[in-house]
Amino acid sequence: MLTVFTSPSRYTQGKGATTALGHEMTTLGLEEPVLIIAGKTVIGLLARTWQQSLDEAGLRHAVHRFGGECSLTEIERVKAAARELRARTIVGAGGGKVLDTARAAAADLGLPVVNCPTVASSDAPCSALSVIYTEEGIFQQYRFYRKNPDLVLVDTEVIAQAPPRLLVAGMGDALATWFEAKTCVEGYVKNMRGGGSTRSAAALAELCYKTLLEDGPAALQATRTKVVTPALERLVEANTLLSGLGFESSGLAAAHAIHNGLTVAPGTHPYFHGEKVAFGLLVQLVMEGSPRATVEQVLDFSTEVGLPLTLAEIGLPELAGDLLGQVARRATAPGETIHNEPFEVTPDMVADAILAADALGRDWKKRNLEHQ
Ligand SMILES: [Zn+2]
Repeated sequence: MLTVFTSPSRYTQGKGATTALGHEMTTLGLEEPVLIIAGKTVIGLLARTWQQSLDEAGLRHAVHRFGGECSLTEIERVKAAARELRARTIVGAGGGKVLDTARAAAADLGLPVVNCPTVASSDAPCSALSVIYTEEGIFQQYRFYRKNPDLVLVDTEVIAQAPPRLLVAGMGDALATWFEAKTCVEGYVKNMRGGGSTRSAAALAELCYKTLLEDGPAALQATRTKVVTPALERLVEANTLLSGLGFESSGLAAAHAIHNGLTVAPGTHPYFHGEKVAFGLLVQLVMEGSPRATVEQVLDFSTEVGLPLTLAEIGLPELAGDLLGQVARRATAPGETIHNEPFEVTPDMVADAILAADALGRDWKKRNLEHQ
């Protein structure tokens, strides 16, 4: 097996980074006209800065207002707008759905794409894949693109304005990165790009975990005050770059598959991807029989930043046998990353681990309350 490491061509981050968008694009040789896809709020927040930055760089641009869903219809609308403009570069600015739409349209048209995430809620912005859900919000499939974004530009001043819960969700997604990567590396299985893991990717995944433990609580504090601090800068890098490179180039295992299984239960739909992944990680740790000290470190961190530890906290106060079975079967569907675990995984085993993780979380919360 060959080892494969994949990443965006350039990653730029910092307070007010949007003012450098035009310059960063010309540095990479990205050409005009530029079509920017964004939702109403982000347009209101950034349109003037785009104008100034792209004008200064000599890049003509137009803004397409995002329709709200990463659906086939919306992707076609973006493609039509890009064709009309004769766009040579597509920029997506916003949350996951906007970025996914921009990437899908750019991939179909063979154009370079720039991702400007305005929230640090998941590990998706740096990757060359999107998660596709059904209209009902159930995980459907991973969609793979030929290459990673040409540029990922993260303006931490914008991230600091977003609701703190989104940053916490991003920490949940990033919390699983090292554990899933480690399972893949130790098992010599393929990463998300079909190659073996490099030592580089594994080291980045581990740094992701260390950064969360070190900077997570202080970064959360910063977003509550809507300010940019060094801790927030480091944490945003962990959620976006380290987690993104770690999962894509080292691989995913049980935690993300459990997440995909949980999406079968409608009760979980109001909860963010990273919140469900955080619970999925507890299930993975139970299934792998992880040492108590490891589990407690994860429980401790999750408690401190407010990540869910129980089924009730992801919208499933009761998970009856039938639905539990459906979740477990979806999590173990053929091709799921849960089969990267070093032992044979059955739906029955997953159902047990889900209930055990929930009991563990409930017990932990109860003991924490008693100590207060
Ligand atoms: Zn994820």
